[in-house]
Amino acid sequence: MKDRKWRGEPLKQKQIDEGEVTTTKWHPDAKYSWAAGKAMSRFLEELKNGKLIAKKCDNCERILFPPRMFCEECFVETGDWVYIEDTGTIETFSISYLSLTAERIKDPILVGVISIDGASEKMGIMHYFDEVDPKKLRIGMKVKAVWKPPEERTGSVLDIKYFKPFGEG
Ligand SMILES: [Zn+2]
Repeated sequence: MKDRKWRGEPLKQKQIDEGEVTTTKWHPDAKYSWAAGKAMSRFLEELKNGKLIAKKCDNCERILFPPRMFCEECFVETGDWVYIEDTGTIETFSISYLSLTAERIKDPILVGVISIDGASEKMGIMHYFDEVDPKKLRIGMKVKAVWKPPEERTGSVLDIKYFKPFGEG
């Protein structure tokens, strides 16, 4: 049943930015710390150097990425750290014409899962795509990371700005 009496209308970012609606700002003084764990910490640290690092399982010989301290298939501790490429293949993608605040946008946000070269099959991360015509995005397309300049990197997956088509695709 549709509520006709209390029909609402979602707020637009513009209405907030331009003071069309009353807003208040509140800064919570929350303090917290979160440990990324051994494998994830090293992974994030290496991003600052512009490198992707994985971990090898000596039992199944898979190269696990993002790296983890235990192989989830063999239930054993993983072995050596292995640097892998910053190129990969699009496994799946999405083209969004909605902004984060659910407004229509002209230039779509392109996101997807990329399996990274040098890691075992289907070991991927999710990221943005750019420098590509959205109509040309394809599963199986080869892509390469576009990194932020070293001085702007913070040890985050966003140290990679996005992935762009690479090679013949
Ligand atoms: Zn294993």
